Amino acid sequence: MVIPSAETEVIQFAHDLIRIDTTNTGDPATTVGEKKLALYVTDRWKEVGIKPTLIESAPGRVSVIVRIPGTNPDDPAALWHAHSDVVPAANSSDWEYGPFAGEIRDGHLWGRGALDMKNMIAMQLAVSREWVRKGTNPPYDVVIAIFADEEAGSLGARYLVENHPELFEGCNIAIGEVGGFSIALPNGQRVYPVMAGEKGMGWAQIRTEGNSGHSAMATESSAILKLASTVGQVGEHTFPISLTGTMRTFLSTVAEALKLPFNEEQEEQILDIVHQLGAPGKFLVNSLRNTARPTVFQAGVKSNVVPAEARGVVDCRILPGQDITEFKQLIEDLAGDEVEIEWPFFGPGWENDSSSELREAIESSIHAEDPDALVVPYLMPASTDGYTLRRLGIDCFGFCPMRLAEDFNYMALFHGENERVPLEALKFGVRAFNRLFESYQPARTPARHGNVVAPGQGQIYMPGTLRGPFPKFHHVPGAHTPHKSSSGRTRRVC
Ligand SMILES: [Zn+2]
Repeated sequence: MVIPSAETEVIQFAHDLIRIDTTNTGDPATTVGEKKLALYVTDRWKEVGIKPTLIESAPGRVSVIVRIPGTNPDDPAALWHAHSDVVPAANSSDWEYGPFAGEIRDGHLWGRGALDMKNMIAMQLAVSREWVRKGTNPPYDVVIAIFADEEAGSLGARYLVENHPELFEGCNIAIGEVGGFSIALPNGQRVYPVMAGEKGMGWAQIRTEGNSGHSAMATESSAILKLASTVGQVGEHTFPISLTGTMRTFLSTVAEALKLPFNEEQEEQILDIVHQLGAPGKFLVNSLRNTARPTVFQAGVKSNVVPAEARGVVDCRILPGQDITEFKQLIEDLAGDEVEIEWPFFGPGWENDSSSELREAIESSIHAEDPDALVVPYLMPASTDGYTLRRLGIDCFGFCPMRLAEDFNYMALFHGENERVPLEALKFGVRAFNRLFESYQPARTPARHGNVVAPGQGQIYMPGTLRGPFPKFHHVPGAHTPHKSSSGRTRRVC
């Protein structure tokens, strides 16, 4: 029997995985497929004699973990993780092919999850199966994880970190999303951004009160108008640009490649560099400053009744190294006196400060395929499962290597309509991961894995599941902190 190569298997697996609908609606009653996917990958691994561990954190919410043992048990282990759920394929009639059909056309595999992250799961399966068949797995342990529920409540990564930290024993670095895709610069040079940090996040829950009554009558105080005014003040505020170490490296590298001036005191120069990146620039511009964006506005139930109360939420994202207390104070000053603000959750941002061995391996894995490309770290403006894994003292990187055509709009297709992945990019990823794990040599320092040290995953906060204090991450040199409010007012804050 002819054994297919990893580059052949990766396409078959990605096709099969897309056909398993794992839509995460955010509602457990209508979220489907993670268990089916877990059983599919388990079967693929069992075919080559690997027995994974399946953990069901809630009915149907199954994560899969497998440890490929190395020959040097003293070496720190590497974690390679993905998530099995996908965001809903809204307006599926607008898709060129069914989002769960796994159609292969024009050199692309089409479907929801093709970029986020069934491509990665297919690479994990194809590469690890080949290792085991050929006996070429790395000398250090590689823990491969496929988490449930990354897109909503983190019933995968967070559940495992809090309840089964032993599964990550010895891991001190992790590779997951979002990074490794190529961006074409205007001069044709390719850049592969590698996620090396994330902004922190918190929610300002705002409540206003006013007089209730018939809407045909004048009311002296309107809860809705107060909330509208507050949300406008906060939402329209522009925070100053403040470069973290990661973004400073990113911008200076791109500026040098494009022969553009880069003075970090000059906002216009910084924005011009980001602008040169096209669509990815619209994403990365959010990594330059704090943001506060209104996301929820609730008031009233009947069109002729003025409500006595209104509520809103402002989603806040803060750069690593900045003071959360000062940030909250600024938001409260902007919000004004006539509101109550509560902060149910605020997690800090983070940036990796070590793992140079992994950075080198990542770089060489790309350069073997694309010698003139730039490989640069960037700061993710949102959160991933990396936030949770940091609680185990693991340095997290976002890297799913794919060389993409210049006109391939990765940013628009990620969570977008007609999501698809070039077949050649899947093969590229397999080759790059093989090289990465082959060349990576873990530093012989003890793994920093220890107790669970910080609260849970950044995307959805679930009260009652936290343990321990927030970790203190290193201050980023040069990071700017938001200016202090002069009013000195205090309002209810928790
Ligand atoms: Zn994802």
